[in-house]
Amino acid sequence: MSRLSIDEVVLQSPQNPTSPKIDTGPQCWFWAGWEPARHYRRSGKSGSPFFGKGAWLPEWEKRKFSNELIDAALDLGATVLITEFLKGFGRKLEEENWPKLKDFVDRCHDRGLKVWGYAQARSLYFETLANEVDDWENWTAKNQDGTRQVFAQNYYRCAPCLTSASYEAYTASTITEGISHIGFDGVHLDNAYYQHCWCPRCAELFRKSLAERGDFEDLLGIPLSKHIQPPPIPLQGGVGLDPLQILWIRFGVDVRLGFFRRIREHLLATHPQLTIAGNPAFPRSDTSFLSRCVDPSRESEAFDFLCCENGNLPRIDQGWISSQAEAHLLAESGGYGIWATAWRETEDGVAPPRGPGGIWAGLAEEYSFGDMLGNNWAFRPSGEGARFYVEDEPEMAAAFRDATSFFRHLDSEIRPGKRRTWAEVAILHDPLSASLSGSSEIRFNQALQQYLLQKGIPFHIVMPGQAVPEMVRVLVAFYLGAISDQTIEQILEFAQQTGRIAWMGGNTAQNDEWFVPRDRRDVERYRSAPGVYFSPAFGDTWQKASRHPIAAAPSESGGYFAKHSIDAGSDDWSVFEEVFSSALFQATVHCDRPSHILVHSQIAEDGRRLFHFRDQSGSGDLVNGVTLRVSSACPDQSTARVICVGKDQKSHCHNLTMQQGSLHLPAFHHYAAAILEG
Ligand SMILES: [Zn+2]
Repeated sequence: MSRLSIDEVVLQSPQNPTSPKIDTGPQCWFWAGWEPARHYRRSGKSGSPFFGKGAWLPEWEKRKFSNELIDAALDLGATVLITEFLKGFGRKLEEENWPKLKDFVDRCHDRGLKVWGYAQARSLYFETLANEVDDWENWTAKNQDGTRQVFAQNYYRCAPCLTSASYEAYTASTITEGISHIGFDGVHLDNAYYQHCWCPRCAELFRKSLAERGDFEDLLGIPLSKHIQPPPIPLQGGVGLDPLQILWIRFGVDVRLGFFRRIREHLLATHPQLTIAGNPAFPRSDTSFLSRCVDPSRESEAFDFLCCENGNLPRIDQGWISSQAEAHLLAESGGYGIWATAWRETEDGVAPPRGPGGIWAGLAEEYSFGDMLGNNWAFRPSGEGARFYVEDEPEMAAAFRDATSFFRHLDSEIRPGKRRTWAEVAILHDPLSASLSGSSEIRFNQALQQYLLQKGIPFHIVMPGQAVPEMVRVLVAFYLGAISDQTIEQILEFAQQTGRIAWMGGNTAQNDEWFVPRDRRDVERYRSAPGVYFSPAFGDTWQKASRHPIAAAPSESGGYFAKHSIDAGSDDWSVFEEVFSSALFQATVHCDRPSHILVHSQIAEDGRRLFHFRDQSGSGDLVNGVTLRVSSACPDQSTARVICVGKDQKSHCHNLTMQQGSLHLPAFHHYAAAILEG
């Protein structure tokens, strides 16, 4: 440390942390004024205080739209609140609340807060909806046996069929008119996913889409006829599906994105400034292209923001890194923003972050990837019922206040503009191939992400059809058991022109996108093309050990990061070592740091390099021994500004000179940023 010239500046705390107008810097959201008492009562649950009903409900109703709540949210750094709007009970019943919501939104606007309305996109409470819509049965999605598809195992809520024109018109006009009346700045379409519908209308539309292709007989060997029916599909990995099933899966993705794209167009026609967010219940351990009709490469057709909703609350769990990096990176490639409604799994169900360090870990990860800050829990009813959760946890509230204030200061200090990931490694992710290859491909990908996070190697995720970012030197393709010739040609071109491909797994490129096995000679040609490093190691490991090489936590909606059967030093892990510690990949930037400090790097709009270091463990302990080493292959960087969190939980700024390509960071708590000034 003594070799560095340190000009330490302690940034001033804002005079008024609840300053009303916040137009720049990171946005921060909370649920607030949410959600309808009617919903709590009908569910009848008494389990989790966050979701169930209780004797506290009338008290809660009186408080949840109060000025006191608005002030508390501002105090924690909120810029956006998401409030109740439409829950699926039907417009007649729900518009009784619109005057109350308008009043709430007006008061929020007076204080400089934006408000999004929550509209449930996958739950029709038919018991009340049927009072105003005669045709409601026609709006519901059908299972293959003709029964109604229910939502969330609730017999009294059903999922909509997204090809119903009258449901679409009703949804579009109800949301549009509600927004006009209430004055929302955005709308959040919750559970905006789709699990196919086997009603006669969908069957007819499916056949029509097949007729338009012109290659039906080539694909299936039989001519198209009116007797073709939508086939059954598994909800988990689809290994061995036939071409009709693959066509049905793709049809579902088109139906879902078409529906939400038209809703978006309708809303923007009258409210061009409106922000549109959706929750596709992603990313999770399963293959969501198949099971929820979600295509992360196309979601920007319909949404500005997606929320990532799973059990991967940023933390370290039994030595394994739990992170939303995958969601942030898919979003960056896909051209939309992310906000997180993550949790951690416990024996008592889903739970919020643990302690102030947990709050910092989540917000630091969100800031590192340039996405919205926020929290799923702060203004939900707490264990005491009619209390906001943060009232029971003053330490957590203080951590929020400190952290949002810190990140806002940081942002105004460094003014990064539109920043993006700077990484020399990219993972190729093909959503369709992942669905057709079952869980193997997903697990390989998760294991690789786990390895890169643990090693502190920043990475991109690239999807088919997307350009590989120019700084990428190694593209890693795992498994990819069902990819098109087009995708193969695209990545071989990358290998010939700029970088290398590490291609792993015995099944790599074996099948095309219809799961038809390729000619063996073509597969060999791809695997031995210039710039391709092919290793079948994963397949071998699998056969040798008679087990799946990498197991992921099994929970459908919970944590899914790869863990359990990979250990440092095992055969599986050594395959990664082979790639990332070999001549194949020599990183130009390397970071020495304690293993619980994660690294992400970005490039600012003006070309400056920005490094984020975050304590994923949430311990809050002092972090020592972080050194950034920049190789001579990197353009000359002589000075750096390091802005980090001090013991006082405030910003500390250090202007440092790099010594022989090394930058030693001062000790910090929670998070530090280093900006190479050149
Ligand atoms: Zn249908």
